[in-house]
Amino acid sequence: MRILLAEDDRFLADGLKAALSESGYNIDTVNNGLDATAAVKLAPYDLLILDLGLPKMDGLEVLKTVRGSGHNMPVIILTARDGLDDRVLGLDLGANDYVTKPFQLPELEARIRALLRKDNWDNHTEVVYGQLSFNTLSRAVLMDGQPLDLSARELAILEILLQRSGRMVSKQQIVERLSTWDTELSSNAVDIAMHRLRKKLETSKVEIKTLRGLGYLLEKID
Ligand code: CA
Repeated sequence: MRILLAEDDRFLADGLKAALSESGYNIDTVNNGLDATAAVKLAPYDLLILDLGLPKMDGLEVLKTVRGSGHNMPVIILTARDGLDDRVLGLDLGANDYVTKPFQLPELEARIRALLRKDNWDNHTEVVYGQLSFNTLSRAVLMDGQPLDLSARELAILEILLQRSGRMVSKQQIVERLSTWDTELSSNAVDIAMHRLRKKLETSKVEIKTLRGLGYLLEKID
């Protein structure tokens, strides 16, 4: 999952980036509102964490612009403790949730998980596809009830394919979801992870089909 973090407090931004990366999210950070609006046009973010007090363009303006241009990713706003009006305005402008500063990391992470679960998994905690079952909270994958041992990258790819099971996913979409500005994933790296993932699914009746030149498709085979 790729997240954009718009926060001008460098200490907070660096800390959040490190902690959320540790939890397996791909994080890009911007420190002003203009860059935030530019960034959402450049990459397909799964979620936006938006501080309201940003230089150049404040967070509410960013929100208005982002929603106005049709981006519908979940947005969590970061607000001041006394910022009731801002919270109400933010929610009215299309934010999905808010966290009041100062906050504890587990609270923010729980809200991120909840929004991503709603947006990507229709609020389901357990997603079953053929012999595979995926826990959207713990991100554990079981095959026939047994844990499937996957690398972080293999897991991320399977997660994307499961989200869109039955629909095609292009390699470019996978690259964009798994990259950050600091670490652009190579197309070759996707091929390697895809190859390993296929091998691990070999004994199941779930298959990753390649549509040459188009992308991949998760399918159940008889
Ligand atoms: Ca700020």
